Amino acid sequence: MSQVELLAPAGDLEKLQTAIDYGADAVYAGGEQFGLRAQAGNFNLDQLARARELTASRQKKLYLTLNAYLRSAEEEGLVAYLEQLSELDLDAYIVSDPGVLALVRQVDPQRSIHLSTQANTTNAAAARFWHQAGVDRVNLARELSLDEVRSIRKGADLELEVFVHGALCVAYSGRCLLSTALTGRSANQGACAQPCRWRYALMEETRPGQYFPIEEDSRGTYIMNSRDLCLIEHLPQLVAAGVNSLKIEGRMKTRYYVAAVTRVYRAALDSLLEDPQKYRFDPAWRDELDMVSHRPYDTGFLFGGGDQAQVHREDSLYRRTHDFVGVVQQVFADGRALVQGRNRFFSGEVLGLIGPTMRQAEFQVGDLATEQGVPLEVAQPNALVVTALPPGAQPGDLLRRQKEQG
Ligand code: SF4
Repeated sequence: MSQVELLAPAGDLEKLQTAIDYGADAVYAGGEQFGLRAQAGNFNLDQLARARELTASRQKKLYLTLNAYLRSAEEEGLVAYLEQLSELDLDAYIVSDPGVLALVRQVDPQRSIHLSTQANTTNAAAARFWHQAGVDRVNLARELSLDEVRSIRKGADLELEVFVHGALCVAYSGRCLLSTALTGRSANQGACAQPCRWRYALMEETRPGQYFPIEEDSRGTYIMNSRDLCLIEHLPQLVAAGVNSLKIEGRMKTRYYVAAVTRVYRAALDSLLEDPQKYRFDPAWRDELDMVSHRPYDTGFLFGGGDQAQVHREDSLYRRTHDFVGVVQQVFADGRALVQGRNRFFSGEVLGLIGPTMRQAEFQVGDLATEQGVPLEVAQPNALVVTALPPGAQPGDLLRRQKEQG
């Protein structure tokens, strides 16, 4: 049981550091080639080498996504890329395409291989098939129920990974041409623009600009709008089912999102692994997850009925109770700190400070000044400001503001 891994997204080096600081056992990142999530601040080879150093120095694992579907013309390029990558000695590659799997086996045979959710593994026979082909871990299809996860555990002897948190997609494990058709950005190459979530209207050809609303409810229409996955309340069942890795979605999300979500799952998983008999779900964990930008939460297909529950019609808007306003860069001996603003914040307002291990505090912002000591009334986005923080604040802590209700 102690082997259960918490796997978090690393959209860039900053987010990788954040994921590790806030409790991830392993992170997944995209290279500049052959990974889905094309524009997620992907890592070039130098950045991957830095990421390797960072993760190794903290005894964490680093997985690289190579999960795009390969075209024949790209084969040579992948072989060359794999040769360059092999020197970095990453912990595993995440692949979907059997062709990519075969080329990894050929070029870098000792490399551990994880199968992406895009490969749609839905049964134990498929899991065994992939294991025999050289896959060490499979990220199961998102469409599975808990009973199906259990039955794959019984029938296949390789590591199982499941998504526990983040965006769901109404296309079968992410295979969809809607975005390609409407924007030229291919979901299967990692660039989905999420047009299934846009609002649509009807227009008569000779009256451009005059839109006739299509209404499913009073707010409009949401063609195939999915909720977000949140399994924080169901970790005991997943762990008991024999899942080896719990994966958080979201390489495109903010540093604040990565921090807030990772620390909650870390706290819950630690509590569960420490004493499964005494484990109790803490409602504060769920409250914390409401503080990040998300669509209404759902358990997806885990308990069946996902076809109904996954599509959300009443309110498709992203929601969050807090805004991310700054990152602590440095803490000085006198208790003041250097903070980089991410949103404007003001002297006199009340902010929250969060850190790893669910450490948090509320405080009223005191005087603000530049690094040179020039007084400020407001901290601007990206500006560095000096201000007092609650005792115990650490570099890497994040500041947030509660949004006004209503
Ligand atoms: S358009 Fe929507 S359904 Fe299609 S891949 Fe993107 S998120 Fe999924």
